Amino acid sequence: MEQPVLPEPGSTERTRLRRIPEKAVTDREVLHAILDAGLVAHVGIVDENGQPYVVPVAYARDGDRILFHGSTGSRLFRRLADGAPTCVTVTLLDGLVLARSAFESSMHYRGAMALGTCTVLMDEQKDDALRRISDHLLPGRWDDIRSPSRKERVSTLVLALPLDEVSVKVSDGMPDDVEEDRDRPVWAGVVPIREVFGAPLPDEAGAAFPVPDYVSGWTR
Ligand SMILES: Cc1cc2nc3c(=O)[nH]c(=O)nc-3n(C[C@H](O)[C@H](O)[C@H](O)COP(=O)(O)OP(=O)(O)OC[C@H]3O[C@@H](n4cnc5c(N)ncnc54)[C@H](O)[C@@H]3O)c2cc1C
Repeated sequence: MEQPVLPEPGSTERTRLRRIPEKAVTDREVLHAILDAGLVAHVGIVDENGQPYVVPVAYARDGDRILFHGSTGSRLFRRLADGAPTCVTVTLLDGLVLARSAFESSMHYRGAMALGTCTVLMDEQKDDALRRISDHLLPGRWDDIRSPSRKERVSTLVLALPLDEVSVKVSDGMPDDVEEDRDRPVWAGVVPIREVFGAPLPDEAGAAFPVPDYVSGWTR
């Protein structure tokens, strides 16, 4: 079946970058790469009183949608299940940009933002999404651990947000100081930030087993 052509990132009125538009990226491959590299998504939901909340969640990308889960007991997740609009953001922090003024100091980042409404996944789609979320965090773990029980499945809402309306913003330049600051006798540049996994720490009973290769060898 032919896949529909999705709009370019940043191409709708709601997602067009207005401030510093040269940081906008329209390539879907970059969107996918950001979502595949991130571990946490921030999900925005406005509650029944108009109060916005931003909830961090684990997630996975499946083609052109984001999958995430929450408790059926959560009023915020139930609102999403009922079709409330949301904004989901994934940010990768790549560095501190140390300019010669506070105003021009900033960060290196890759950010993706998706707007839309979620679909509730059921049955096999739900199981498949839970596995994908686990695989995204640590491939191999799902096959090693107990599968969710019927009760655990029932208490879990699994949601899919289509990547139909998205924006991508990437900041990766050197400090952009104003002319009169360039001769200031102060160091300026970029301090890169890298995500690193530490050595695995077993719990009491886990110490009896060797660390699986998929744990010790996992790099992203
Ligand atoms: C780690 C980090 C730290 C930041 N710190 C600051 C800060 O301290 N102050 C500050 O003003 N800004 C900061 N930004 C930039 C901030 O995210 C916004 O891009 C910026 O404030 C412009 O917002 P706006 O709504 O005025 O832009 P507009 O250009 O008007 O936004 C229009 C559309 O662009 C898209 N968009 C905007 N920002 C992003 C983004 N980051 N990623 C993907 N799509 C986006 C959205 O779809 C939005 O609806 C930071 C960004 C990151 C990732």
